Amino acid sequence: MLPDEPIVTRWFDGQSPRARKVRLRIEGAELLMHTGVEVRHYPLNEVRWPERRSHGQRQTDLPDGGMIQHADAVEWDAWWQANHQMESPIVGWMQSWRATLMAMAGTVVFLAAAWVWGVPWLSQTLAHAVPDSLEVRVGQQSLQQLDRLFLEPSKLPEAQQADLRNRFERVVEQAYPAGDAPPWQLSFHASEILGANAFALPGGYIVMTDELVELLKDQPDAIVGVLSHELAHVQHRDGMDMMVRASLVSALVGVVLGDASGFIATVPATLATQSYSRDAERRADAHAASMLHAAGLSPSAMAVFFERMQEEDRGDDEKGKANKDEDKEGVALPIAISSHPDHGERIRFFREWKQ
Ligand SMILES: [Zn+2]
Repeated sequence: MLPDEPIVTRWFDGQSPRARKVRLRIEGAELLMHTGVEVRHYPLNEVRWPERRSHGQRQTDLPDGGMIQHADAVEWDAWWQANHQMESPIVGWMQSWRATLMAMAGTVVFLAAAWVWGVPWLSQTLAHAVPDSLEVRVGQQSLQQLDRLFLEPSKLPEAQQADLRNRFERVVEQAYPAGDAPPWQLSFHASEILGANAFALPGGYIVMTDELVELLKDQPDAIVGVLSHELAHVQHRDGMDMMVRASLVSALVGVVLGDASGFIATVPATLATQSYSRDAERRADAHAASMLHAAGLSPSAMAVFFERMQEEDRGDDEKGKANKDEDKEGVALPIAISSHPDHGERIRFFREWKQ
């Protein structure tokens, strides 16, 4: 059946019980009904068309109370199909796959843009809007969690801990002459699982392992460099940003409504799985280099740290796959410094650093 071709069918006018023979045509956005006496016009979108998938006769309800009954479903459907192209642009548009796909593509683009620009913006804004008290709570919660899982009491002598703390304190004082350094709190812990490592948590909690102190015992400037890197994470609230990003909705509720319990509950899972972004790491490295420089130390001291990490990684590889399960370094805690990728790139960065 061709478009434009009318179908001959039966019409009930809604008053008389007798059917009359009519011809139907679709023209533009209208259904035209030729009764033999007159031509009636019905807007297509006011006609209630029959369900096409059903069997049996096709019944179409007209807006004026009339009704069309067509006994031959196959013939009706063929007529409908042939006239499908003739539907009003709006009906056609809504039904067209191409439009649907384009709408979907538009949605995807919108969501991608929201993800790429909106989420970082929102998480950063929220991370900085989080009150200090909540940040400290999140930090404490995180530290407790990590303490249970990974940390043992430090075996470093008190005097050595105090010496390292003082060294770092002097560097901070020189790097922040205005005294506007973020608050920080350094603790040492032994950790067989984490190995030579350090990490920063929200609220300014910085943890360094005995193993890292041991690895760099002849390189105190490198130890201070690692701590400077961690202080940069504290200053830029990278930990908070990461937590907020991982649980955007509950963080939003926490900040806006002040009920942070849902947000706090997400902390353990976030800690175990998320890492700081590459940008945050680069920024922290640059910050560490500037701090060392400001304190009259050479940023290249940090290169020594990454070179030794590289050697350690090689040593682990030689131990073979048998020890793979025990070798949890870099897997256990993504935010820790030894998990950060690209030792080679960072060695170059600190060797070649210029103000
Ligand atoms: Zn880092």
